[in-house]
Parts: sequence; structure tokens; C-alpha cells
Amino acid sequence: MGGAGPWGLESAVRGRVVRDPETLERVGRDASHLRSRPAAVVYPSDPTDVRRLIRWARGRRVPLVPRGGGTSLDGESVPPDGGVVVDLSEWDAVEAIAPDERTAQVEPGVINLALQRRLAQFGLFYPPNPGSWARSTIGGNIGTNASGPRSFRYGPTRAWIRSLDVVLGNGRAVRLGRATAKRSVGPDLLNLLVGSEGTLGIVTDVTVRLARRPPVRLGLVVPLPPRASLATLAARLARSPVDGLAAVEYVDRSTAEALSSEGTPIGPPGSAWLLLEVEADEAREAEGRAERLAVVLARCGVTARAERFPDADELWSRRGASGDALDRRLGFRIREDVAVPIGRIDALVARLRRIARAESVPLYLFGHLGEGSLHPNFAVRPDGPTGGRVRSATLGAALALGGTVSAEHGIGRLKRSFAARELGRDAVDWLWAVKSWCDPDGILNPGALLEPRRPPRGSSRSPSASRRS
Ligand SMILES: Cc1cc2nc3c(=O)[nH]c(=O)nc-3n(C[C@H](O)[C@H](O)[C@H](O)COP(=O)(O)OP(=O)(O)OC[C@H]3O[C@@H](n4cnc5c(N)ncnc54)[C@H](O)[C@@H]3O)c2cc1C
Repeated sequence: MGGAGPWGLESAVRGRVVRDPETLERVGRDASHLRSRPAAVVYPSDPTDVRRLIRWARGRRVPLVPRGGGTSLDGESVPPDGGVVVDLSEWDAVEAIAPDERTAQVEPGVINLALQRRLAQFGLFYPPNPGSWARSTIGGNIGTNASGPRSFRYGPTRAWIRSLDVVLGNGRAVRLGRATAKRSVGPDLLNLLVGSEGTLGIVTDVTVRLARRPPVRLGLVVPLPPRASLATLAARLARSPVDGLAAVEYVDRSTAEALSSEGTPIGPPGSAWLLLEVEADEAREAEGRAERLAVVLARCGVTARAERFPDADELWSRRGASGDALDRRLGFRIREDVAVPIGRIDALVARLRRIARAESVPLYLFGHLGEGSLHPNFAVRPDGPTGGRVRSATLGAALALGGTVSAEHGIGRLKRSFAARELGRDAVDWLWAVKSWCDPDGILNPGALLEPRRPPRGSSRSPSASRRS
């Protein structure tokens, strides 16, 4: 697939086509270690242009890879060599905010944090807050079903998308979802698109749901005693009668040290940390809730006093810097993203430490404890044989414990075989059937999410007339 030849791309689309080496180098990678050599980047001018581009690519069997912020961690936005990147980062308008409906209509390239800033004046916010929110886009967040610390209370991106305009790989333009708060019209096609990593269609417009912005959001950092059971903590906090608990995060001692050595300490040195967020209508209520939380924690043997961040976002920004701190300390590394049922977190951690010992590789661990979701970071080259064994053992451990190989980052090119193991052959066949209908020529992000396989032909190859443009 791909190849050069008389491309005709410049005359097929109205938007800019860029082929300079610097730009191609930038869009040939994401935040993983993978690299590729795309042939061009297109900045489509509007949805009609996206359809033109798809028609062009189908005729030539050229891979197209939609791209937002390019912050994926597993090659979700790394194009195949010779592919064309569809850069939507300039589609960054917040088109409408409807405070009474609690929705916002946005273009897919809007940066998550920029949307949050626009919403603040309405007393509203968009709950999914990945650590990359200053750089990742709503379209990319949809592509990977991203989530962040507050998904403990609010759930992932999937829970916050009301409707999508999509140009499918077969050239048809569809609107999925409605403007209504409720809907019961068959299976949820909209959610097929969420998490599909650009393999089914290109999202051109989004309506997101919004939540009321709590006036007070208190961040708490509690040092953990060395032998604290993470599973017990997660279970007690899940069952805790404390209202307003929005996030339950964990940072192990090694990661805490890395953060502190960068001059961004968020807790006392020498221990692992539990990071919590409590929402409330006023400061006194937040303090009351924090005190009740302290009682719950004391029952788990966690008695140290919490440090307070009056603005929880300050805490999440500093915690988000842990990735950058490890980047600087370790360079490329294995950055995994597994989850298990919360009762099995201790078993998972024990297995991860065994893997690290067996391979003599340092382990840095942090994640969204309240959801059983952990990011094991191993200080080892991700593309070497040791890295391969470490990744395989880590994902195998999550599967063996009834967990998942991706809690939030997605599958990309790095974890396809493990996704197939998690889904099972019949579910993979089903996904291929969906892919084959939506993208009969296999042009959309081939090689991401699904292991390459020649898709059976769909019923129709010719793009049908659009209902919308
Ligand atoms: C420092 C750092 C911290 C991170 N923290 C988190 C975290 O806390 N939680 C989390 O979930 N992830 C996190 N991530 C991973 C990453 O930021 C997310 O997966 C994010 O959703 C990617 O968004 P993006 O705009 O960069 O998308 P991209 O990387 O550009 O694309 C992601 C996927 O979506 C597809 N896509 C993009 N736009 C469209 C579109 N318009 N239509 C169809 N498909 C599209 C792409 O083809 C690709 O498959 C982190 C990454 C970094 C580097």
C-alpha cells in the first residue's frame, strides 16, 4: 500500500499539502518510540475536503492517519511509511456553548485545556482530563477514549460525547448521536467510534456533554506507609461514604523521588503518595469531607496528615509532570497502561515487581488507583529484547488477573497482538467486519489497533452521495 507515483494529492483537496522534511519528521512520530516516514501531511479545509481526500486515497490505496496533538503513547498516531497524515489540529474552534443543555459543540482539533478555559466562565467543565490535556485534542481523546484522574467520579471520554459528525472510510458522512440527554435507538454506533483510533472514520465535529464546575476542588496528598495494601485502600475509598471524592491516584516512592528531584515535589520525600481530590460547594464543606476521608484512611493504617492543594488542577498538573520527569531521567522506556479489578491490585503490583527483579530493570509505578488502573514504567529500551519480554510479561499479568491491556491509552501499533488476546478471536472477527464496512479499502490508520489482515470486501466500494457535507 502507499507508494509514490503521480500523486495528484495537491489537486484532489483544497486544503494545504505539506511535504517538507521537518514537518514529515514531526508527524512521523507520536509520544512512543515509533518512527515512520509519511509521504505528506494534509490540512483539510472542511468536511467536504475530508471526503475528497478519502475518495482520492481509496482510489490509490494510500493510508490516511488522522492526527490531533500526536501525544499517543503506543503509535496510535504514527502513520505507516508512505502514508498521508490528516492533521486536524487547526480545526480548533469552540463553535457553540449551550449552558442550559450542558453541551458544547467543538471542532475535533480543539485542545482539551483550551476548551476547559472557555467553559470556566459558564461555571461548567468537560470532565475527561488526561495528563496531556495541555497538548491533546478532543478528537484524539475520542480516538483513544482518554481519561484522567477525575474519571474515578466522572468516567472516561466515552461517557461525555453526545454526538459526532464522521466521514467514514467508505466516504459516507454520518452523524452519530443526538442533542438529547437520553436516547434508546438501537445499539450505540457512536461508541463504536470512540476508541477506534482513527481506523473507522475521521471525526469532523463533536458535541460534548458538560458538568457543573464544583466551586471548590481540594487536592490532598497523603504519604503512604511502606506496606499499605493498595487493594484495601482502593476498596475502602470506593465504598467510602464521603461525598465529592473525585480522584484517587497513586504515585510510588521511585516516581515520587523523580518528581521531587525535578523541583516539583507534591508530597513529603521518602514515601509513596496517595493523591485525592475532593469537590465541594464551599471550603468548609471540603474540609469536612477531607476530615471524613482521613478517618477512612486511618482504618487502612494511613495516618499521616494530608498536604493540601486548594486548587486540585495544580496538583494534577504537577502529577502530570511525572511523565516528563521520567522522560528526562530515563529517556525512552516502557510506559504501560494496565488495569485490573481493584481487589487484585496488590497481586498486580507484586507481579510487576517480580518482572522488574527478574529482568533487573527499575520500575516506576503510578496511576489511577481508584479504578485499578496503573502505569508501570520500566527503565528499559522499549524496542530491545528485554523491553519486549517486560512488556509481554506485564500485559500477560494484567490479562491473567482478569484485567485489561489498556485502561486509557489505547492499543496503537505496539499492543495489537495483546488486544487480540484480550478480545478473543470471535470479537476480533466482529471488529474486522465493522472495519470492513466502514473502511472497505483499509485506508484508515492501517496497522493500528488490529493486527494487519486483508479485510474482506464490504458490500459497496463506491462512496455514496453524502447526506451532509
Ligand atoms: C505526558 C502525557 C501524559 C498523558 N496522560 C494521559 C492520561 O492521563 N490519560 C490518557 O488517557 N492518556 C494520556 N496520554 C496519552 C494521550 O495524550 C491520549 O491518548 C490523547 O487522547 C491523545 O490525544 P491527541 O490529540 O494527542 O491524539 P493523537 O495522538 O493525534 O491521536 C490519537 C488517536 O486518535 C486518532 N484521531 C485523532 N484525531 C482524530 C479525528 N479527528 N478523527 C478520528 N480519529 C482521530 C488518531 O488517528 C490516533 O489513532 C498522555 C500522553 C502524554 C505524552
